[in-house]
Amino acid sequence: MADTIRSVRGMNDILPASTPHWQKVEQVLQRVLGAYGYQEIRLPILEKTELFKRSIGEVTDIVEKEMYTFEDRNGDSLTMRPEGTAGCVRAAMENGLLNQAQRLWYMGPMFRHERPQKGRYRQFHQLGVEAYGFAGPDMDAELILLTARLWRELGLTDVRLELNSLGSIEARMAYRQELVRYYQQHQEQLDEDSQRRLTTNPLRILDSKNPSMQELNQHAPKLIDHLDVASATHFEQLCAMLDKAGVEYQINTRLVRGLDYYGQTVFEWVTDQLGSQGTVCAGGRYDGLVAQLGGKTASAIGFAIGLERLIALLEATNALPDISGPDGYLVAVGESAQAAALVFAEQLRDAVPGLRLISHCGGGSFKNQFKRADRSGARWTFILGEDEISQQQVGVKIMATGEQEMMSWQALPDFLRQLLNQNNNK
Ligand code: ATP
Ligand code: MG
Repeated sequence: MADTIRSVRGMNDILPASTPHWQKVEQVLQRVLGAYGYQEIRLPILEKTELFKRSIGEVTDIVEKEMYTFEDRNGDSLTMRPEGTAGCVRAAMENGLLNQAQRLWYMGPMFRHERPQKGRYRQFHQLGVEAYGFAGPDMDAELILLTARLWRELGLTDVRLELNSLGSIEARMAYRQELVRYYQQHQEQLDEDSQRRLTTNPLRILDSKNPSMQELNQHAPKLIDHLDVASATHFEQLCAMLDKAGVEYQINTRLVRGLDYYGQTVFEWVTDQLGSQGTVCAGGRYDGLVAQLGGKTASAIGFAIGLERLIALLEATNALPDISGPDGYLVAVGESAQAAALVFAEQLRDAVPGLRLISHCGGGSFKNQFKRADRSGARWTFILGEDEISQQQVGVKIMATGEQEMMSWQALPDFLRQLLNQNNNK
């Protein structure tokens, strides 16, 4: 027998037992985004490799070692998107969206060749939100308020907001030199990754997940003490807006981003519930990226939520939304009943908008069909047998109580509409 083929490591199936949770979470996210006037943009999964090299930066983890890159049949180098920001900026530039302010979102799979572990996969999903053309801190505050509302609407309590400012590029360059001097003085304490980053991307050393680097990083010079005046003012104004809106935050001076294109505001929502993969949402300002990709300078800020981590956190805090079964399960036994069942079900769906009805397929005894009805989690079982057909009636069993009654075909739609409405208004 041939070996069975298994999924690619780090790429998960999301099974029917989980998809209702995903759908409910996605609905909440979309509803809240709509409440702020954000519009969906749908982007390709494949982009030219050059896009990510130029935007994310050659010396980042993503570009150095995490991208799924291949040559297509024409010999062009393509990459499966490791994140959405670069593609979104590309699309906005290409389609003239940057001529006016934009509030955009997208949702979908991202691909990074990382070591798979809890909360870290090779295919994972993000909700990305990007705002273009807003230079002021009010937009930074809007995005943070939006995320705070998402958590409230999802019933999530166990996340806290960390904030930092990376300042202007010039301020960061000056700081970078000071940081390099500091780490050079303690070179013997640097782990291998940090040694390498010292010459390529020293700010990333601050972001090290290695516990042995914690002490050294704690005493490193702080970027926030080296901000340019404009960035310092921007940051103060943002903090004042958050204070006024009653959003709590901690300033984390070691918060940098894994990606190079950020400047000024950066923020993360983190939790202690998910072990070391505790960042659920990460974002910040990247005013430099559009120019870096060859466009006119444009303000840009955004964030991404890791949906696997979000759902894992909802699960860990017992906040996953309740999932209900179908409304009805139609059981039909006997030749004429079975023949009538599919059409009966169609008519019922026509007559009762929104009704979720499973029509039993494959025949079998009453006992067997009832078992299926039970397992489906349906609220009602509808029963068609030979007698019901000849009398144009249907048995209705309320699964929660076991009560059963006969109803005429005519009366059933009204009965269902009423109960479903009551349900929706609850
Ligand atoms: P980390 O430091 O955890 O590697 P990152 O800086 O690489 O994160 P971003 O590129 O900012 O992450 O991505 C935004 C969010 O997407 C993260 O905060 C996280 O929730 C999620 N995320 C990133 N990489 C993965 C992954 N491999 N698997 C699952 N979720 C991920
Ligand atoms: Mg990463």
